[in-house]
Amino acid sequence: MKTWTLNCSSCGHQEPQDAGVGLCPQCGQPFLVRFTSPAPNKAHILARWDLWRYAPALPIRDDETPVCLGEGATPLLESPELARVAGVRRLWVKDEGVNPTASFKARGLSAAVTRAKARGVPGLVVPTAGNAGAALAAYGAAAGMPVRVYAPATTPRPILDTIRAMGVELVTVDGHIGDAGKRSAEFAKESGWFNVATLREPYRVEGNKTLALELAEQLDWKLPDAVVYPTGGGEGVIGMWKAFDEMRQWGWTDAATPRIVVAQAEGCAPIVRALREGADRATPWENPVTHAAGLRVPGPLGDRLVLRAIRETRGDAAAVSEESIREATLRIASVTGIDAAPEGGCGLAVLTDLVRQGRLDPDSQVVLYNTGSGASYRS
Ligand SMILES: *Cc1c(COP(=O)(O)O)cnc(C)c1O
Repeated sequence: MKTWTLNCSSCGHQEPQDAGVGLCPQCGQPFLVRFTSPAPNKAHILARWDLWRYAPALPIRDDETPVCLGEGATPLLESPELARVAGVRRLWVKDEGVNPTASFKARGLSAAVTRAKARGVPGLVVPTAGNAGAALAAYGAAAGMPVRVYAPATTPRPILDTIRAMGVELVTVDGHIGDAGKRSAEFAKESGWFNVATLREPYRVEGNKTLALELAEQLDWKLPDAVVYPTGGGEGVIGMWKAFDEMRQWGWTDAATPRIVVAQAEGCAPIVRALREGADRATPWENPVTHAAGLRVPGPLGDRLVLRAIRETRGDAAAVSEESIREATLRIASVTGIDAAPEGGCGLAVLTDLVRQGRLDPDSQVVLYNTGSGASYRS
């Protein structure tokens, strides 16, 4: 029988499995799942083609059915042409744009809604820069649970249309995801609905572990030298980092953990600034602006963990201009045929800059995550 506890990522305070927790009641930092049952064996990976293939490594019991829309199992596409553009030896794109509702957010929300349903919460609410709202709307519908989404009015139109198409309540707010976050927290408090905001609960991170588990399996349990991840709230990076760590502890791979490279936009780069200043926490970015909507997160709750993930993997972080993001997004599409999101373009632009500046060895083998689909940004 699989068992786990919830452990505060900062002070270590522990709560039992499926406790009705948001943030740590002692220090206000996020909880992470810690498995207390014996280490899962990779021979027990399931013969199914979605992220629940990795159920042995995820917080789900054998007698539970996941809330699943076929998320994960995304292509890992090697492109020698794009490697030449970036100036590295080998480059793969992990294309997350083909997920349900067209972004990697499907991974985390599938895992979080699965646990929320098991706990029998009355409804689900999320603040979003767009894609998390679309994913929650879909998984809420799949679970038969009511959903309310708070999104900035400036969210790309196709994403708002997807949220509405799922028949859930959509509230648009003036401002950014931080403003939407205040509204959702208030609503969650008065309604008793479960707040699935990034890192306010521990299970979205668990779903995002499959970004790394799947990559490892696709590379026959070898790992690249570096992974580049466009970063907003940080759940993607934190999930990957946790999975790389667990895979080593569980004996699934003996490959070195890849350097984690965080890509941000110059108009909203709190993690890049904190790393440069040698800080443990990021200070909120004033007046965040970028057309890569998923990166418009001025005050990420996971700042401490993202900074640790970068430092402990000898990774890096850099920001690029809106113009570079546009150029690189077009470049990915025209060179590979992958309909990249601007966030993916941001990743390519950062990678290219780091190689040019001598911060990343040109002999590296690199995986670039294209976290969403270009189609979500065309109106
Ligand atoms: C949410 C999102 C990101 C940022 O991911 P975080 O886990 O919040 O850092 C990047 N790209 C896209 C397309 C997104 O939707």
